[in-house]
Amino acid sequence: MDLSGYAELAVRLANATGDEEEAGSEDGHNISTLDVLRSLLTALRFPDTRVTRRDLDAMLALRVEYREIFSAAASGNGSEAVERLNALLIQHPVHPQIFSHDDEPWHLHLTQGGSVADRYAAGSAMGLATLITQLGLNRLGVCGAPSCQGVFIDTSTNRSRRYCSDRCASRANVTAFRGRRRSGTPDVLPTAAG
Ligand SMILES: [Zn+2]
Repeated sequence: MDLSGYAELAVRLANATGDEEEAGSEDGHNISTLDVLRSLLTALRFPDTRVTRRDLDAMLALRVEYREIFSAAASGNGSEAVERLNALLIQHPVHPQIFSHDDEPWHLHLTQGGSVADRYAAGSAMGLATLITQLGLNRLGVCGAPSCQGVFIDTSTNRSRRYCSDRCASRANVTAFRGRRRSGTPDVLPTAAG
């Protein structure tokens, strides 16, 4: 049970795009097909990729919820973010079971019940809830690059992250560099971590 991996799933879902036209993060994936959703789950090393069309629809709906949660938190509407996340936790309860497999010691799996989408919904909501209760709601951010709607979890020690990706950070850097060259100010190099 890796809750930070599940919180990362919430980020990846929020940054995914559900159709061709919609813009998400610069690093976002289109999850309009089952194959892309499966490869996203594989990339995050989640074991169960037996997703169906029904799971895909549920994950697309979940993605909209996560976007709302991140933008509410990033714009200072903490109570709205928490209300939405609490609603997800009620809608997708965890079903903990103790397991031992592959010579690992006994450990907890949070989500054994329901459909594949239910289990990923329960896990990602629980991952995000654990993260914000441990680190604070202000760790949820929306990318500062003008044309980007990407979201991120800021795990930097001084909470200084401003961009969803290094790509957005370097693009912002180029824009800032051009601005400074015009005004004669010295150059600094921001990264996604700030
Ligand atoms: Zn971005």
